[in-house]
Amino acid sequence: MEIQPNHQLFIDGEWVAAEQANHLEVINPATEQVIAHVAAASSAEVDRAVCAARNAFGQWCNTSGRQRAEYLRAIARQIELRAAELAALSSLNNGKPLFEAEIDIADAIACWDYYADQAELLDTRQNSPVALAATDYQSQTRLEPAGVAALIVPWNFPFVTTAWKVAPALAAGCCVVLKPSEITPLLELELGVIAQQVGLPAGVINIICGDGINVGAPLTSHPGVDKISFTGSNAVGEKVMQSAATQMKSVSLELGGKSPMLVFEDADIDAAVEWIMGGIFYNCGQMCSATSRLLVAESIAQPLLQRLKQATEALQLGGAFDEGVQMGPLTSKTQYQRVLEYIQQGRDSGLQLLTGGNPAEGFAQGYFIEPTIFTDVPADHPLWREEIFGPVLCVRSFSTEEEAIELANDSEFGLAAGIISADPSRAQRVAEQLQAGHIWINSLQVVFAETSWGGFKRSGIGRELGPWGMSAYLEVKHITQPT
Ligand code: NAD
Repeated sequence: MEIQPNHQLFIDGEWVAAEQANHLEVINPATEQVIAHVAAASSAEVDRAVCAARNAFGQWCNTSGRQRAEYLRAIARQIELRAAELAALSSLNNGKPLFEAEIDIADAIACWDYYADQAELLDTRQNSPVALAATDYQSQTRLEPAGVAALIVPWNFPFVTTAWKVAPALAAGCCVVLKPSEITPLLELELGVIAQQVGLPAGVINIICGDGINVGAPLTSHPGVDKISFTGSNAVGEKVMQSAATQMKSVSLELGGKSPMLVFEDADIDAAVEWIMGGIFYNCGQMCSATSRLLVAESIAQPLLQRLKQATEALQLGGAFDEGVQMGPLTSKTQYQRVLEYIQQGRDSGLQLLTGGNPAEGFAQGYFIEPTIFTDVPADHPLWREEIFGPVLCVRSFSTEEEAIELANDSEFGLAAGIISADPSRAQRVAEQLQAGHIWINSLQVVFAETSWGGFKRSGIGRELGPWGMSAYLEVKHITQPT
């Protein structure tokens, strides 16, 4: 087993071997073949990476926003130059259809460019006077980088979730230690290659792969880390928060969801079916924002479900590079088994299957599952309440707008929601009552760098993207004195 230089650890601007020669096997989920070996860090290397980031911070925090913006734009241009290759690598490692990986890369580029602009804007916001009611004092606001940021990401949107963290952190003037998911590290490691290509000062970005126990946990508890930004499951998010609490570190958490999609009786059924399917079968349902609870007005439930069943059964499953493929495999064996267990639980409790419910036929290898829909799911059933993180949709009907809102909000999560209605005033009224961080009306789940991402309730703490995404990496200071 030989580890390629760019599959080593990226610490202090260099590719270095892992001291304990541990490695991770990286799998193609469509074939179950090992496609790469990646060096796995130990806690000693976590320490090296954090120290490298601390050393670099002294100079990086004194660069101007304009200087940092130049690096961010250079990174965006490198990603753009290599977009086709990076999308293919993402599909190979994550299993998503190539067209979806291409959208991810375009989103990542937009994010890097957006935070380049935000870095420049930061220069204009420094030392700004505050309007005080008192006339005998004056005060000014400074925004200063939080320090060294530990950034931990999952496997469902490699490069995108990473851009949402690394770009604003660098724009703010922080130095970072990035821990990719052990399942999809390949694309994130390319960020190290790009950092070298654009001449980013050594130590500003460090990338160390490994699992949660050997790398994630020592990273969050390292005293040299000032800020933690974590995206992943609630179970791990709780551990991260506990770890942050002992040293009172600032922490941002982007966690799970069980988002509702509300379809009212005036909806255009064909358009509704497209948006419903986009909300649950895109990325094979492995989306924190998946609208996995479908609430349909009773009066249109029958024709809508009939059309949804037809369209779902026509979905073309396959490998990421297959012609016409619309849905790929689950990204890991663990996730595949977890989703099948949920489906079995639904069957065991007698839930009604509209379609799907089995491993997909015709694949000798790969973690393929049929897109699955259960109807009339009781509101207290685990399939209705828990995040499945796969292509499994649960459906209920409602008779009034109030009931739809109540059912939608009856969840411990509050990440996202969808509303489908031909009546704009109703859609707006409902959107204002839903407890969720992002709501789409008559739309697929489009995400813009300028709008926020994050959840109410147990879906997390803080917001990514937009100016809020950079604020997470800034400390606010006021300098006050008599006039
Ligand atoms: P996960 O929590 O298992 O892992 C996420 C990351 O945390 C990985 O890099 C993992 O190695 C690391 N980790 C594991 N244990 C750790 C520990 N003790 N300390 C520090 N780090 C540790 O999640 P996953 O399976 O990779 O991703 C799926 C989950 O992520 C879902 O629940 C999904 O909803 C959530 N998610 C949320 C968002 C969002 O924006 N809200 C986006 C994507 C995914």
